[in-house]
Amino acid sequence: MARKPIIVGNWKMNKTPSEAEVFMKGIEEILTGEEAADYGIGAPYVDLDVCVKNAKNLIIAAENCNEKDSGAYTGEVSVPMLKEVGITYCIIGHSERRTYYNETDAACAAKCKRLLADNIIPILCIGETEAEYDAGKTADVIKSQLNGSLAGLTAEEVAKIVIAYEPIWAIGTGKSANEETAENCCKCVRDTVKEMYNEEAAEAVRIQYGGSVKPTNIKSYMACPDIDGALIGGASLKVDSFKEIIDATK
Ligand code: PGA
Repeated sequence: MARKPIIVGNWKMNKTPSEAEVFMKGIEEILTGEEAADYGIGAPYVDLDVCVKNAKNLIIAAENCNEKDSGAYTGEVSVPMLKEVGITYCIIGHSERRTYYNETDAACAAKCKRLLADNIIPILCIGETEAEYDAGKTADVIKSQLNGSLAGLTAEEVAKIVIAYEPIWAIGTGKSANEETAENCCKCVRDTVKEMYNEEAAEAVRIQYGGSVKPTNIKSYMACPDIDGALIGGASLKVDSFKEIIDATK
């Protein structure tokens, strides 16, 4: 079965609830539910409720979660809380979380497992630094991050998730990976899933490219055989540019 493309904006720490509501209304206006791709937004916790309430066709993703259900973890948000708000996807292991909040592969694996237990789809982010890229270590980093971040997941679970390959040197820099690099790395992700699990999981898992994706380059990524979508930061913040991305891909 063909994989359904999935394009998700990642607002990071941007937009108040009232700004989120304006954005949601602006985008929902152009979606019919008949699109060939899934479209979604990853939003800060406090925006999730207003996003879900205004979503007709957009997927709403959280940007993080805690793997524990409840307890003395000040400032954290659990999967049952996200579930009750109506969240269906959750970004895990974004490089900013790995870098600034010491999120480890083991923590990503525990979070993915907990999300899947409640049928929330993880969007697991991986990707190498510029120094690793320059040293020719990209494939090693991809393999090692996947081994650690998928630990304990079954082939059936991996088949359901989304993996976002985001080279750190391309995030927010305007230096997007060229199509060949992006395709080769996404293929490396798929091949690694095949080695770790099986052909079915590798064929089913949806793989996004992320890193300076814009209305002007999204089409060329989407034309690559192993790229099933994109995770988009800066270009997802304005209604007009996210609309252009949707128009370029539907
Ligand atoms: P960018 O961010 O599109 O602004 O490069 C991508 C991401 O961090 O997911």
